Amino acid sequence: MEKLKTDVLIVGTGASGLFAALHLPENCSVLMITKDEVTHSDSFLAQGGICVLRDEGDYDSFMEDTLRAGHYENRRESVDIMIRSSRKVINELIGWGVDFAQKDGELLYTREGCHSRPRILFHEDITGREITQKLLAAVQKLPNVEILEHVTMLDLIERDNCCYGVIASDGAGHRLAVEAGHTILASGGIGGLYEHSTNYPHLTGDALAIALDHNIALEHVDYVQIHPTTLYSTKPGRRFLISESVRGEGAKLYNAEGRRFADEVLPRDVLTAKIREQMKKDHKPYVWLDMTCLGEEVIRRHFPHIYEHCLEEGYDVTKQWIPVVPAQHYFMGGIWVDSRSKTTMDALYAVGETSCNGVHGANRLASNSLLESLVFAERAAGDIAGDPAKSQPEFDLLARQADRRIGENRGELAKVYRRRVLEEIEKEKKAK
Ligand SMILES: Cc1cc2nc3c(=O)[nH]c(=O)nc-3n(C[C@H](O)[C@H](O)[C@H](O)COP(=O)(O)OP(=O)(O)OC[C@H]3O[C@@H](n4cnc5c(N)ncnc54)[C@H](O)[C@@H]3O)c2cc1C
Repeated sequence: MEKLKTDVLIVGTGASGLFAALHLPENCSVLMITKDEVTHSDSFLAQGGICVLRDEGDYDSFMEDTLRAGHYENRRESVDIMIRSSRKVINELIGWGVDFAQKDGELLYTREGCHSRPRILFHEDITGREITQKLLAAVQKLPNVEILEHVTMLDLIERDNCCYGVIASDGAGHRLAVEAGHTILASGGIGGLYEHSTNYPHLTGDALAIALDHNIALEHVDYVQIHPTTLYSTKPGRRFLISESVRGEGAKLYNAEGRRFADEVLPRDVLTAKIREQMKKDHKPYVWLDMTCLGEEVIRRHFPHIYEHCLEEGYDVTKQWIPVVPAQHYFMGGIWVDSRSKTTMDALYAVGETSCNGVHGANRLASNSLLESLVFAERAAGDIAGDPAKSQPEFDLLARQADRRIGENRGELAKVYRRRVLEEIEKEKKAK
């Protein structure tokens, strides 16, 4: 088994992992691993935008919108941290070259479901790609950071509830033991566990299964967000999201008889329930979404990629309605972390969709997740910078033991992990 050593290991190269890397001290060696290609993360798929506190007068309503969407199960302290940090994060993104939409030199703000006012910055309908590729370019310039693609974390190496790194497997199936002073899990959501999801299929919640194995606390694992509007398709694979900002800008939902049946900017969970109810009544696997009322100019300017994608699927959204259906989209629960993104295991942090810092409560407010991911990734990096690195003289022995425990068959391990996470979600649901 090959051995690698680093000060900080980051598992995942989405927005949260990259932002953490950018905020670690430059004298600290950082290894980032990703299960797939570096650009294959949900962060690249984000369409609608990223929230920001517009001005001091917006604080109470931003807080209330987030809490209301989250059914008041949010950790208020975490929401406060996110809102208060938002402008700094946005200014930093702009500094990295992120090009948010502007008019006459002023940032433009859009609105999505459950937001009481426009406070979302966007770049066309590919905000995630714009942000994440700029972060990636910045990380790739850092001399202290190395990125390895097609390397999958299989297990943690720990003793007495302290993490010393991971066992991983590379693209050729070779095992690697990565020794790290601190480890950050930035491994995204769980959409790959579902038949219909907007997520990349390789995002299967591995970190959650591993955390369960090591008695690391999780929180709210039954809180899985379904997005009300994805393009209906019978093809296998990822479902294409029709961003909420389409409805925020005025697109309308219709039933099989061409009648409206719901307020289009209801919170996602409430609207999803209404759409499912309507599909049942209509005996159809979809309802209709009308974007034509936005006008061709708005569609082509604000939603060019949705326009193009639908055209490829045979729908001209400037002229005709499209069939839409709810699909798994986001995971509010995850590995429990405190306000510095620390898990219940020493030297182990979790950030982004893998973590649960309580910002989203029972349901995420649209466009809060990129912001939350970045804010709490920076906090993890800040905490690590002030925490002495952990080392373990018996690392090699622990690594061999962990390797033996995993066994030879990676496919079997993936199945076990998949089952473990889904069972935990069901168990939590039943417990409520
Ligand atoms: C279609 C779509 C649209 C969205 N739109 C918005 C939006 O408009 N605004 C918003 O705020 N949010 C949006 N979101 C949500 C947001 O994109 C994600 O919550 C956020 O990007 C998650 O970032 P992350 O860094 O936690 O994970 P990701 O970006 O998903 O990255 C996860 C990383 O972990 C790696 N990984 C996973 N398992 C392993 C393993 N075992 N070993 C090694 N590496 C592993 C993956 O390869 C990947 O690099 C959207 C999501 C989707 C799917």
